[in-house]
Amino acid sequence: MKIVYYGDRTINTDFVALARGLSDISGGVQFRAGTGIAQIPGQTIRNPDTYKEFELPDNIALEGRDLALIATTKAYDNNYFYDFADRIGIISFSGWEHLTSLPTINGLVYFTAQLLCDSIPIGESHDKNTGCLNDFLWDKTGVDIGMRSAFICPKCRRDFDLKKRVEEEIQIFKTIEAILDHVCLASRSGQSLLDYWGVNAQPSKQFDTFLCHNSQDKDAIRELNTRLKDKGVATWLDEEQLPPGRPWEDELERQIPSIKSAVVAVGQSGIGPWQNVEIRAFISEFVRRGCPVIPLILPDCKNIPDLPLFLRQFTWVDLRKTRPDPFKLLLWGVTGKRQ
Ligand SMILES: [Zn+2]
Repeated sequence: MKIVYYGDRTINTDFVALARGLSDISGGVQFRAGTGIAQIPGQTIRNPDTYKEFELPDNIALEGRDLALIATTKAYDNNYFYDFADRIGIISFSGWEHLTSLPTINGLVYFTAQLLCDSIPIGESHDKNTGCLNDFLWDKTGVDIGMRSAFICPKCRRDFDLKKRVEEEIQIFKTIEAILDHVCLASRSGQSLLDYWGVNAQPSKQFDTFLCHNSQDKDAIRELNTRLKDKGVATWLDEEQLPPGRPWEDELERQIPSIKSAVVAVGQSGIGPWQNVEIRAFISEFVRRGCPVIPLILPDCKNIPDLPLFLRQFTWVDLRKTRPDPFKLLLWGVTGKRQ
């Protein structure tokens, strides 16, 4: 049996680290991170409608008891945490912050244990919150105590007669027990599972600035990138940060929270990078988050385009000028420190 995790654009979780951590404690179930960002159609999730339209981004083959689990903050129309159809489960963290202060990743693993429990099955659903994994979640506030206690109650346990089960079911049972122990210990100490395992000990890389440009201006941008790096600025340039073979929009979207400012460069082409719809969306995301956005005129620029409305609050830095030193102004803009 294998379980493959995905997130949509609303979720920023290190599924690779999660799958590795779970595989380490698993008693035979394989855990993996899927490739690509899931697209969940529609405003709310409905079963069966959403599931009929949904496709996994990497079309991985699922068979037997395999499950693909997709995390999102989109809501179910019936307010469920999760539902599933044809080996695919969509897990919703809509309104999670109102139910618990524990990280969504603990919830994702707790729900994984519930789905595994349903798949064998172990015991029966309870009609009230007892803390058992098999509680009905009509009252969603039970999820906080559920993750902190994370156990299967004695009655449900008795119902699962190991002697009458095949080897695969016993392995799944052991995996559930191991998962619950880890969810419980991490949650009681208020940590995410990744922190609890220590796989998150290294903070993710932070970038001072995103170098947004047109591909025609690549040479000038490379030169600027080198100058900035020489001054100790951590730059985000597509060719240095994007792994080959992955859609750049998805990668950049994942990394945006770790980038502190954006430089929007115009060079000889005279065309603002905001003329590309996707890039425009990213620049407006920086503006929305209150990050500095610095329109920049490269040395070889002949025609300066008009700034679009949403960028007019920012002033140009013009690298064609000599005084005041525009490079110093740029450094001031991206680092926040006057040079
Ligand atoms: Zn129970």
